[in-house]
Amino acid sequence: QQARVQDRKWCWDDAQAASAIGLKQILLVDLEEAIRNNQLHVVYQPKWNLHTDRLQGFEALIRWEHPVYGGIGPDVFIPVIEKSGRIDSLTLFVIRRTLSDLAQWDRQRPGLGCAVNISARLLGDSAFVQQAIALVEQSEVANQQITFEVTETAALDDPELSTVALGKIRDTGIKISIDDYGTGQSTMSYLQRLPVDEIKIDQSFVKTVTTNRGNRVMVESTIEMAHALGLTVVAEGIEDAECMRLLHTLRCDIAQGWHISKPVSAEIIASRWIADGDEQARLMA
Ligand code: C2E
Ligand code: MG
Ligand code: MG
Ligand code: MG
Repeated sequence: QQARVQDRKWCWDDAQAASAIGLKQILLVDLEEAIRNNQLHVVYQPKWNLHTDRLQGFEALIRWEHPVYGGIGPDVFIPVIEKSGRIDSLTLFVIRRTLSDLAQWDRQRPGLGCAVNISARLLGDSAFVQQAIALVEQSEVANQQITFEVTETAALDDPELSTVALGKIRDTGIKISIDDYGTGQSTMSYLQRLPVDEIKIDQSFVKTVTTNRGNRVMVESTIEMAHALGLTVVAEGIEDAECMRLLHTLRCDIAQGWHISKPVSAEIIASRWIADGDEQARLMA
């Protein structure tokens, strides 16, 4: 049984294959136990400010190093955990870890931000919202340094509920970002009525922005509209220099993607991005 499972390890790269072999197996492992046994890691992906040409901050992304299945991507296990009703404790774990890492980096290099992904269904959980806000308020870092990212489609499932919860969060100074923008049905004018600070253009548009005319038009007009509405624009999935140059030309505010850095451990962030002030040289190299 065990050997068969290991043979199939490659399957976890593919969400569909994974669900075909039975995601419920993962749930046999207690989430709390996974946290206790250090199977869950938070990695960080740098976000680059295209106006100042400096590091802006990071996005925290969860990883599960499963003792049997190996590395399982969040695209695979987050939906399972959401269904199991324990996404709240997982998210609070990520927030705690992020706040403690950022507090440490902040002493050496103040003012960097960090974003955490929040499942939209948690917006309807007022106990979670309260706990999440309390963690940020109790931490050493300023509330303004923290961003909560909520995906576009999910944020709009229940607009009334989302508006109340997002408003409550944003009133504390925590920033709100709409993730995967462009994949849902929302119009910009609708989004603008939600309490948000930032939109992240989905990587499916960004990756092909230099080669696909339609996507370029979409990205260009999104940036223009978002700016007119006072929103910050992040482009995610920037994989090469040409793409980054074009986004800069189009006046996009923040860039994120493999061209800048893949998501890396807190240790690597500390040594390569916090201690080393000359990150520009490395990016251009
Ligand atoms: P997301 O929030 O949209 O995160 C961006 C994803 O794109 C990440 O995948 C990141 O590793 C990947 N990425 C970044 N730059 C590039 C690039 O240049 N090229 C390509 N091909 N990919 C790039 P990841 O880490 O596998 O996360 C997938 C999704 O899982 C996230 O999408 C987010 O929705 C969710 N997720 C991750 N961590 C958490 C978490 O702590 N809580 C919740 N609720 N969801 C999470
Ligand atoms: Mg995100
Ligand atoms: Mg605080
Ligand atoms: Mg995204």
